[in-house]
Amino acid sequence: LTTDAYVFVTSPAVGGELDLTRLRGYALADAHARFRRARGEDVLFTLAFDSFAAEPAPGGGQDGHEWAAERCVELRRRLDELGFSFDWDRALLTSDPNVYRWSQWLFVTLLEADLAYQRGDGWYLRNGRFHEENDRRVGDVEGWDDSVRAAQRALLHRIDGFDFDAKALDGTTLSVFTGHPDAIADAEFVGLSARLPELDAWLEDTEVRRRVEELRARDWNDTPIEQMPVVEIGMSVQVPSVAQPLPIVVSPAIDVRFGPAAILGIPSADPVDKTLAKRLPKTGGLAWKVESKPPKTTSAVRYLTDDMPLSSAGTFGPPLPVVGCERCGAVPVPLEQLPVESPIAGAASETVCPRCDGPASRAAETIHPRLGAAWLELALATPPAERAGAMFDSQELVRRLATSQTVLGPAEDKALLDMRTIAKALRDLGPLAFLVDGEPHGPALSHGPLAFDDRSVAALLDEHGADALRFALLFAAAPGKPYSGGADAVRQAGVFLDGLEEFARPRIHDGFADACIDGEDGLRRRLAGWCDTAIARVTENIERLELHRATRNVMELLDRIRDYEQRVEHHRGELTGLDRDASDAALLTLLLLLAPLAPALAGDLWRRAGLRGTVQEAEWPRIQRHAAA
Ligand SMILES: [Zn+2]
Repeated sequence: LTTDAYVFVTSPAVGGELDLTRLRGYALADAHARFRRARGEDVLFTLAFDSFAAEPAPGGGQDGHEWAAERCVELRRRLDELGFSFDWDRALLTSDPNVYRWSQWLFVTLLEADLAYQRGDGWYLRNGRFHEENDRRVGDVEGWDDSVRAAQRALLHRIDGFDFDAKALDGTTLSVFTGHPDAIADAEFVGLSARLPELDAWLEDTEVRRRVEELRARDWNDTPIEQMPVVEIGMSVQVPSVAQPLPIVVSPAIDVRFGPAAILGIPSADPVDKTLAKRLPKTGGLAWKVESKPPKTTSAVRYLTDDMPLSSAGTFGPPLPVVGCERCGAVPVPLEQLPVESPIAGAASETVCPRCDGPASRAAETIHPRLGAAWLELALATPPAERAGAMFDSQELVRRLATSQTVLGPAEDKALLDMRTIAKALRDLGPLAFLVDGEPHGPALSHGPLAFDDRSVAALLDEHGADALRFALLFAAAPGKPYSGGADAVRQAGVFLDGLEEFARPRIHDGFADACIDGEDGLRRRLAGWCDTAIARVTENIERLELHRATRNVMELLDRIRDYEQRVEHHRGELTGLDRDASDAALLTLLLLLAPLAPALAGDLWRRAGLRGTVQEAEWPRIQRHAAA
């Protein structure tokens, strides 16, 4: 019975160099993928190239996709040189119109489902409805690294408190959040995030609107609270048990603490509210018809996560499939007209309104790179032949999802959250209905950055070779740990691999494959025990992606085999036929355990020994249950 597996890694940028940190992730994932294949699983392991990461120089006469495809050849050559076993038949470039049309399809579909909205600086996803589920499932998904869970929680940034309904003086009901339900009577204002969608209806005064737009246009995360602007919008809210109507103010201080929310400002209970209140003009003691009973509150949570941007202004990417019509406003391009291709992505152009056939224009907006990357785990799982017509309807998605192992780089937690969010949207919209929990990623690990001094990949490859570099990427440190030690790790890996080759070369011969360990003798029994121990440990190491341990356990097995031969010589003067057989069998086990870590050397020795097939087709070694002496 074959099990389906899917090992997912994130995209390299086309137009740039592969750095050691990214290669570390690929080395981890590749070792894991090779191991699963050796255990008989049908493994999908392929790669999406981010070809919108860099733009061809203008005037080159090439379109972006052609240009990217050429750059991609270089990247593939380097990845092949390092022996990564990516299935290139399933790989993709994000600049392929058959791929990016689905980013455009997603945008239009989200817009039609009212999951996308426009605010000052562009289009955003209404992520709000997915926060609670994303938060809840962080603890549920099996096999996530602690650091992956912690990063997801940090990104969602949950704040516990209470919601209640307040009436604005124009009759609108506003849901207001507070962390201090006992101090509601002391409230002095209602603070709004500039990103709260309800706000737009109240921005009648042009000067106020201009000031709010200014708040929206800037990133305020690094500004001290004392310096954050507070804009009164000239609207008030009546809150039960509060003596007078409370002014509504807009401030980035709300955004950075609560996300897109309306909060009750209570200076007596919250120091930040106190800071903000000092900046408000004192209103007179105009008494209000007070409802003395405090409002009915329900426990609520707020998440600080930003809404995910769906559009980007004028950057290189697929054109945003929406046109501006004088009569109809923003009109999405009908799904059957996708993809919208543009000779120069991100250029403004004149077009016709799909709704009224009147004159319309396409703004210089493109699909945001985060939306482009937020469904690549689905694109890669869908076979190329189905990508043009039915990207999200492929049976392969049902077969492959959730991933069996996801390997993320140091700054890719947000990308994981985006993928989780888009998968939930697609589940609710139908295409991914089979993915009940909306989680496209199974076991996930996030690795740390890595550098060997300031040596470049090319220089390290030149000096030490591909296997030594791969082995060192795994050997240097536990995957979660950053590594910035010297290139000694690469030298050490090279010394070990050279020593192994030197040891193995004179020992491999025809008939090598049939070697087995005769357990009649104590020394041979002991060697068999070491082999079993190595198999058990390396298997567990690679299952858990503890490849730093796997490399050490493989190194240790070579030491054990050497030690065995020395002891036999010491005891018997020389190795008998059965002793040599045992040594051969142990060496064969070593080659099989080495194959996911240093595939070139393992493959080379395999061939030289005249063994059947390739080492990659060979079965993962089994424990023989020899009793260690
Ligand atoms: Zn129109």
